[in-house]
Formats: sequence, structure tokens, C-alpha cells
Amino acid sequence: MTVKVQNCIFCGSPNTTKEHVLSRWTHKYMAPHRKGKTLSVRGVENLDGSGTNLVKMAGDIRDWQIACVCGGLKNTCNSGWMKELEDRAMPILIPLLQGKHVFLTPIQQEVIASWTALKCIVAEYEIGLVTTSREQRVRMYNFQKPPEIGWAVWIGRGTNQLNYPAWSSAALKITDNNNSEIDDANNQFNGHSTTQMIGELFIHVMRFPGGLLPQNWNFGVPFADKLSLIWPPSKSILNWPRDVLSPKEMGNIANSVRDYANRVAKNRR
Ligand SMILES: [Zn+2]
Repeated sequence: MTVKVQNCIFCGSPNTTKEHVLSRWTHKYMAPHRKGKTLSVRGVENLDGSGTNLVKMAGDIRDWQIACVCGGLKNTCNSGWMKELEDRAMPILIPLLQGKHVFLTPIQQEVIASWTALKCIVAEYEIGLVTTSREQRVRMYNFQKPPEIGWAVWIGRGTNQLNYPAWSSAALKITDNNNSEIDDANNQFNGHSTTQMIGELFIHVMRFPGGLLPQNWNFGVPFADKLSLIWPPSKSILNWPRDVLSPKEMGNIANSVRDYANRVAKNRR
């Protein structure tokens, strides 16, 4: 069901190559292979009442590849700035995947947020659940930073990754009368949440690229006391690890904004 992307989503080059969504170096920290089992369910929530469409991914999530960025030669996106960001993120991430004790500086936290945001932007092209705008991709291309507004990235310490999906996401199409962006073909989805679990690191990303949460929403991420917000940028040193999140708590966090949006939609009908 992959949507064919003709040109690199960052620089427009026609020489797109397949890219592992989950970086190869992270694979050894992930739960053992479970052959033939679905490890990932990605969903589209049509909150206008037109139904829910869940996309199940067959096979191993380590093999998940998307061809939407240019690669191969030295100055391409995949082999150039994306690799540089990967190389910067890797040594910061490894102790977190292992649940080790470290202090993370604000700059290190920002590198993790940027690395995470890049994965989320690329993954959106898997089934065309694109919520990011061209400007946001250009910012990533030029500065390797997450979008300035509308994005929030939390990290926490997870456990029991055998019973937890390595990647889950829900693209939201929020039909709020106050929101006119829904009709924009380039910005079909106006909200998205993505959760990743690698080793002992739990990463939760929420984005409403149009800006803040929809008006009148009284929403807060659950178990925030066990999470650290690393984007928008933090100004303080983070003492890692945080208290462990149970799989149930991780599930509640992962589904929280989708469930809230569904409740809002139900009440409106
Ligand atoms: Zn490119």
C-alpha cells in the first residue's frame, strides 16, 4: 500500500533509494525476530465518522523500508546530512536504549528530538499519511531540527519490549469547523501521533502541524511525570533514566491523543 514518491521529499532529487525507517544499528537492541507476525499496526482515524482504517504491517519491522529520499552518492540526503544526524544521535541514544544512567544536556536532547522527527517525517510516506508541510521538511533539510511549532517529543524509560510494538502511529483528520486546513490536498491530515520503542527507550511524538492543539481541547499526555519533554527544546539537564513505564502505561500514552480526538468526535455527533 506504499505510496509511490517520485522525488526526494527533502531536496526534490529524482534519485530516491530505499531507506530503513528503523536505523540498522538499532536492530540489535530491538526485541527478537518474530517471524510472520505482525509487529506493527498503523491507523488512520477518520474522526468525521467515516470509519477507522487500520493498516497492519506483515513481517519484521526491521525490514521496513521506504523509498522517499535520495541516496547512494556522497552528497545525497540519505548519505549526507541524514547520515550525519544519525552519527550524532547514535552515541547519545545507545545508553538510553540500554537503560543506563546518563546526564543529557539540552543540546543532546535536541539531537534526539531531531533524529526522532526525521524518522516520523519519513515514515509518513509509507501509506501517504502526510501531515508535515513542505516548509517543515525544508527546515529539517537545512537545519536538521524538528518543526518549530506544533510538535512535541517526549522520552521515557520503557520495559518489556517483547510485548510492545516497535512503532505505532495514528494519523488524525480532525474535522473541526475552526480548522480550514482539512481541505488542503497537501495537508490532508492535521494531527498525528507516533510512538517508538527501541531497547528501553520509549519515544512519543505528537504533532498538529497547523500549530497548537485544536481549540477547546483540554488534553494532557498521561503519565507525564514519568516522561521528559525534549521538544520544544528543554533548558535543563536531564538525569536519566526516568521511572520505568509499564506496557499498559506506554499503551495509554501512545493512544491518548487518538482516544481523546475520538471522544471529541463522538460528542459532536
Ligand atoms: Zn534528497
